[in-house]
Amino acid sequence: MAESDEPAVPQLVRGTVVTHRRRCGKRGCRCTGGEQLHESVVLSYSERGRTKFVMLPPGEVAAVAAAAERYRAEKAGLERLCAYGLAVPITRLGAARKGGRA
Ligand SMILES: [Zn+2]
Repeated sequence: MAESDEPAVPQLVRGTVVTHRRRCGKRGCRCTGGEQLHESVVLSYSERGRTKFVMLPPGEVAAVAAAAERYRAEKAGLERLCAYGLAVPITRLGAARKGGRA
């Protein structure tokens, strides 16, 4: 893989790649009919509870989408691990309680 002129996209990106379709508001533009809207691919992410977007250059869409996908997979794995981590003490403490310390 050539690294020289490729944009550096991190391994994991917390966000979702989505396509925005919108009207620009200019009179007589192809988008006024609502058929041919302007499309832009953005990375949607949340920051302090707010959803934000950053435009992605066409050349970076695939790499960022892949990184976002890896993030989702990692997150799902972490959630499973943490759910297990939570179940262990709950089960043990629940069992101890049933075991009868007043
Ligand atoms: Zn337009």
